[in-house]
Amino acid sequence: MKVESGGGDRVGSTGERLRIGVSACLLGREVRFDGQHKRDAFLVDDLSPFVDFVEVCPEVEVGMSIPRETLRLIAIGERGKVGSSTATATRLVATRSGEDWTDRMTGYAERSARLLARENLSGYVLKKDSPSCGLLRVKRYADTDTVHPATRDGQGLFAACLQRAFPHLPIEEEGRLRDARLRENFIERIFAYHRLRALWATRWTLRSLIAFHTIHKMALLAHDEPGYRRLGRLVALGKSLAREELRDRYEGGFMSALAKLATPGHHANVMTHMFGHFSDKLDATARREILMVVEDHRRGLIPLIVPLTLIRHYVRLLDVSYLGDQTYLDPHPKELMLRNRV
Ligand code: SF4
Repeated sequence: MKVESGGGDRVGSTGERLRIGVSACLLGREVRFDGQHKRDAFLVDDLSPFVDFVEVCPEVEVGMSIPRETLRLIAIGERGKVGSSTATATRLVATRSGEDWTDRMTGYAERSARLLARENLSGYVLKKDSPSCGLLRVKRYADTDTVHPATRDGQGLFAACLQRAFPHLPIEEEGRLRDARLRENFIERIFAYHRLRALWATRWTLRSLIAFHTIHKMALLAHDEPGYRRLGRLVALGKSLAREELRDRYEGGFMSALAKLATPGHHANVMTHMFGHFSDKLDATARREILMVVEDHRRGLIPLIVPLTLIRHYVRLLDVSYLGDQTYLDPHPKELMLRNRV
């Protein structure tokens, strides 16, 4: 495990740089089975000025060489029978030699998760398809040979352990981050998680939690309106709950609400709602202009950045204090230009 500073001096809104765990090969480290890397341009060129990466190559750290033979996931059936259709367990096995790395990798992943807990991570990006790092739809074979077809229902052993250890941490694969909407969502979540962790690190009170919830209202509404209302009810019950319980339930509800993708329709509803807070201060022409661009976004004709810039302009010009603090207006660094593409 190694920390790689992005080199820039930019920080999240809390004043601290974000720390993001990452599969080391995605940063250009030549640690793959064939001695190659899988450098990811978005992570290395675009995101690195805003974060410090904590890079991990589970296969190298568990003691495998570079280069090395390939590994694969093998489905083990009910009675320990390889390839059973009622597979209940997965083993990590070297393809040619059949060497079984399952227990070593699982032990390493558990130790690594304990170390990572001290790293104050705000997110994690994993290499797709890897039997160690892959998060979703990793190939699982019925046997070590290539005759049996694979099913895409597996999860890398390290990734599975990571997800169990950090159930609320935003975790994504680099492949999915090529989708503009998933990328924008992931980056929004890592900054939101960072702010939430910063709140928990203070001597937080119910009052400061309510303030946190209030400035995230529009963001939550864009992602998950019922989730926003559930969190509101939870906060209202806050005095009757143990502090730990309130913190855990709020964090779980907050992060799962933000994980729901905000559609153009949701964004248009939220911007119309915001517009309602200052529309009476505008003349008819300005009102028409705003509503038109919001509707154009709803119809998919223009990206989110267009109506949002207009809304933000009026919120600041008219000094609409209730809206000025909303994270929805500036959820992540504008240099990433994520809202130009959704
Ligand atoms: S996918 Fe994971 S295990 Fe494989 S080379 Fe990259 S960091 Fe190492």
